[in-house]
Amino acid sequence: RNGMELAREELAKKLKEDFPIFKTGSFAYLDNAATTQKPKQVLEAMEHYYHAENANPLRGLYELSLKATEAYEEAREAVAKFLNAKESAEIIFVRNATEGLNLIAYTYGRAFLQEGDEIMLPVSEHHSNFIPWQQLAKEKGLKLHFLEPNEEGIITEESFRAVLNPKVKLVAMAQVSNVLGNIQDIKLFAKLTHEIGAVFVCDGAQSVPHTKVDVQDLDVDFLAFSGHKLYAPMGIGAVYGKKELLEKMPPFLFGGEMIEYVTKEGATWAELPHKFEAGTVNVGGAVGLTAAISYLDKVGFSFIEEREAELCAYLMEGMEKIPHVHIVGSKDPKRHHGIVTFTIDGVHPHDIAAIFNSNQVCVRAGHHCAQPLMKFLGTPSTTRVSLGLYNTKEDVDAFLAALKTIRGVMGYGE
Ligand code: PMP
Repeated sequence: RNGMELAREELAKKLKEDFPIFKTGSFAYLDNAATTQKPKQVLEAMEHYYHAENANPLRGLYELSLKATEAYEEAREAVAKFLNAKESAEIIFVRNATEGLNLIAYTYGRAFLQEGDEIMLPVSEHHSNFIPWQQLAKEKGLKLHFLEPNEEGIITEESFRAVLNPKVKLVAMAQVSNVLGNIQDIKLFAKLTHEIGAVFVCDGAQSVPHTKVDVQDLDVDFLAFSGHKLYAPMGIGAVYGKKELLEKMPPFLFGGEMIEYVTKEGATWAELPHKFEAGTVNVGGAVGLTAAISYLDKVGFSFIEEREAELCAYLMEGMEKIPHVHIVGSKDPKRHHGIVTFTIDGVHPHDIAAIFNSNQVCVRAGHHCAQPLMKFLGTPSTTRVSLGLYNTKEDVDAFLAALKTIRGVMGYGE
């Protein structure tokens, strides 16, 4: 096993060389849940696109525009394959997970939920999968049920069944929490949701980069993710939706490209997926996303999962030896998907992050866009360290070395 671990550590070091940003200085980048760095394969693919293939896609009939259209539709195919969607028309490009979740709330939510209907969601959701439903509920007179995670960060089947009732028309849930790192049993919850005829919306922002996500196997109705957490550029993400649902949903944004026919009196809508993609789309970003997916395919999720679990175990073991440091959520590294959130007795997370910064360690401090969860946990803010496929033991050592000094820097004795 040690041999395998060593081989994986060597591979992580090699992978790190693919990421030009790490050649610009010496720092430990441990804020991968916020955004990941980009490999040269992604940067080169985008550069090639802008050098040789850029034009407004989907409308021009000349060679360059056709190339841009082809590149864009190839990206859709790549995402469909990556998520194992039945067909590429089920993939809608958006800017990020936030826009994707809003698309679902604005279109499905406003068309198909009615006063008196109910929505279930965990209290641990990121604001992006919280506020769209909260606002929809206010607008339409819906009731929200908040599910509470147990000490491991898990929503249990029992607590889910206790709330589930025929008035529930939609369940929204992140597969992996951006604070607790734990994975929820999405397949089970989607099945229970379907038993009462409701739809299941999955926030895949933190799961898609860390584990193989198969939308048909999970049988979710919708799933949203962001490219920038997946080693792709910012400004591109996707929503998967089951075709039969997308087809009956009204458009999200109106304008060019999403119409079939327009008169002074009205308009009809383009076929899927274009009905949901108004205006000029982000082809450069989509090309970057294709390259990121093929990079991940080469690295493989079996490496990513094993590597992140063992590095997370090393990280958590180190943290547990340091007095006054408290890990939030599960003590089992396998449950963390490379995300570990913690508090230090008597030290505010902003001071913690500032001390890490002066040690060239990038971590995140604050409420992590999950204020209802912070309230539930009884702490206004925490610090989060999160791993990516290129992180090494050296990065974790730099983090642990800085962590050991924090109480001392803040004037506490032992
Ligand atoms: N959901 C979760 C679980 C997240 O971690 C994030 C990003 N922190 C989002 C949604 C929103 O992603 P974005 O900001 O890229 O839209």
